[in-house]
Parts: sequence; C-alpha cells; structure tokens
Amino acid sequence: MKQILLAKRPKGMPGQDDFTFQETEVPSIGEGEVLVKTLYLSVDPYMRGRMVDAKSYVEPYKLNEVISGGVVGEVAESQFSGLEKGDIVVGMLGWQEYSAVQGKHVRKIDPEVAPVTTSLGVLGMPGLTAYFGLLDIGEPKEGETVVVSGAAGAVGSIVGQIAKIKGARVVGIAGSDEKISYLKEELGFDAAINYKTSDNLKKELAEVCPDGVDVYFENVGGEISDAVFYHLNKFARVPVCGAISAYNKEERDIGPRIQTTLIKSSALMKGFVVGDYSSRFGEASKELGKWVREGKLKYEETIQEGFENIPDAFLGLFKGENIGKQLVKVAEP
Ligand code: NDP
Repeated sequence: MKQILLAKRPKGMPGQDDFTFQETEVPSIGEGEVLVKTLYLSVDPYMRGRMVDAKSYVEPYKLNEVISGGVVGEVAESQFSGLEKGDIVVGMLGWQEYSAVQGKHVRKIDPEVAPVTTSLGVLGMPGLTAYFGLLDIGEPKEGETVVVSGAAGAVGSIVGQIAKIKGARVVGIAGSDEKISYLKEELGFDAAINYKTSDNLKKELAEVCPDGVDVYFENVGGEISDAVFYHLNKFARVPVCGAISAYNKEERDIGPRIQTTLIKSSALMKGFVVGDYSSRFGEASKELGKWVREGKLKYEETIQEGFENIPDAFLGLFKGENIGKQLVKVAEP
C-alpha cells in the first residue's frame, strides 16, 4: 500500500518535494484494533502549522513519518467488539491507504443519515469551528452585519449561512468571481467582495456595510483584516479562527497597528481552537444536522480523485482552488 511522509519542513509555500511517497505492507491488527481502508481524506490549512517544528495546540508532524489528518474509511478487518467489517468510520488517521488503529479511536458513522464526506466538512471539524466561533464569540444578533473572510471555504461558507439563520446581514470576502457568485446566488449572502480584484477593499467594504461591521469572523489575517477593522462598530466581536495569509510567510507578518480601532470600537477580539468546545460537540452536531436536513445549511465539497493527488489538493488550499471543503477520494467503499 502507499503512504505519504513528511520529507522536510517547508520554508515559505510548501511544494511536492516536501512529501515522500512510500510503498509498504498493509499492517496487521492486534486485539482491540481495526484495519481501516481509507476512502476519503481531508486536507486542511492547519496542517501547514504542523509541518513546522514549533509549539502549538497540536503536535508538529515528525520528519519521515506518515502525515495524519481526518479520514473517512471502511473497516476491512476488526478485532474490536464495537465495529465489524464494512462499517464506515471517521477518525484521525494517516495519509495512507490502510491504517491499523485502536477501535475506540475511530467513530462509526451512519451513511444513511448523511453522505459520509460530511463528517469531514459541514458535520465535522469545519462545521463545528464555524458554529462555536460564530455563536459563542461572535454572538450575531438579528439585523447586525457579519463579515467573514475565506468566505467560500469549508469554515467560512458555514459561518455566513449560520449568521443568515440568526437574522444577520452577511458579507463575504473571497478570492474569485466564481466564489462571489456562489456566495450570493447559492448561499444567499447579502454581498460579497473579490479581494483579488478589489483595488480598495476598505472603500468597497464601506459601500456594502453602510451600518458598519458588528462581527468579523477572521479566517485570513493580513491586509484583509486591516481593511475590515476600520469598519468595526461599537462593541463589535472578532472571533479569530485562522490567519491563512500568514501561514507561508517566512517573515512575521507586520501590518498597520490595530489597537486604536479596537479601543475606539470597544471591540472584543478572541482567538479560539475548535477543541476548546469538545464537551459541546454533541449539541452543535445535532443543530448543524438539523439545519442541513431543513435545507437551511448548504455545503459544497471539492473532491480531488486519487491518492497521488493528496499533496496537490493540500497545496491548492493556499491558491484558493477549493470551494467548500477540500477532500481527496482515495478508494470506493
Ligand atoms: P478553506 O476551505 O477556507 O480553504 C482555504 C482558503 O483560504 C482558500 O480556498 C483560499 O480562498 C483562502 N486563502 C488562501 N490563501 C489566502 C491568502 N493569502 N489570503 C486570503 N485568503 C487565502 O479552509 P478552512 O475552511 O478549512 O479553514 C479556514 C481558516 O480557518 C484557516 O485559516 C484555518 O487555519 C482556520 N481553522 C481554524 C480552526 C480553529 O480551530 N481555530 C479549525 C479549522 C480551520 P480564496 O480563493 O478566497 O483566497
């Protein structure tokens, strides 16, 4: 079977040569373990942080070891009483075609309830991130203006729609005209701006946010945030979810100082990681599932086919190649 290892720690934008493909035997399993055949695999921006040897909220990947991430797979063999051959499971597994894992470390999912891929997207980590960041920190109220960056991505597209469900006016910022149409026409955003073609983001934001910004859901950092901060209303809230524009910078990103905008607006800016909310995942999953069934929450998935394309799909996140959740399909069930 094939597997992918971290070959070296990338400097700047990662490339194909940061990954090593390797052939190895399918592992055998012991008592309490299952053998999982990888069907779909998630690539996520946070993985870039794990490629660096620095202290963070998740351990760095080790050099010359298999890269890990969210995987949906099928149980191929089981020596664990709670799972049998053919069951579909989700868990943190390797970038490899088969994984041997403790049965208690994966979660069985029911393919009848929702497509299995949703457990890596709208009903998985990105959906939960959107839910808690927006509702717990952003606390949007009816009639308020919510701006979200990275708006057409896995997290951002869900943030905007939950804000609409809560009665807010929603403005998205994203990087292509196709994404702008998707946000406005498919997801019902009130306005959307293409930051790549905008020559004055601050001014364009003023036009589409005539009442200012009450919640800014931060996914990207850098100049986009600088432009939004100027429009924060009194007591605005800024959930800081990500800063993807900085992940590949070799030098620390220095921008205009924002403290004065925060003081003037008495705004709250708060970072978070989705794991902070693990004790409430059940509650959020139920609510997200209900919204999806009711058709209030739509989701898109960009699915690249083939194990050999995993690095490409990952690198594509930094070029804006995905709409919604980026996944890789590795095998049929
Ligand atoms: P996305 O699906 O949004 O994919 C990444 C997107 O980011 C791309 O499609 C691209 O869209 C945009 N992007 C890439 N480079 C830049 C750049 N230089 N400037 C502006 N936009 C850029 O990923 P996710 O939804 O999975 O993640 C979104 C953010 O949330 C990330 O910052 C991630 O690290 C963070 N995150 C945080 C979590 C937490 O617990 N705090 C959990 C999960 C995610 P475009 O075409 O618009 O440029």
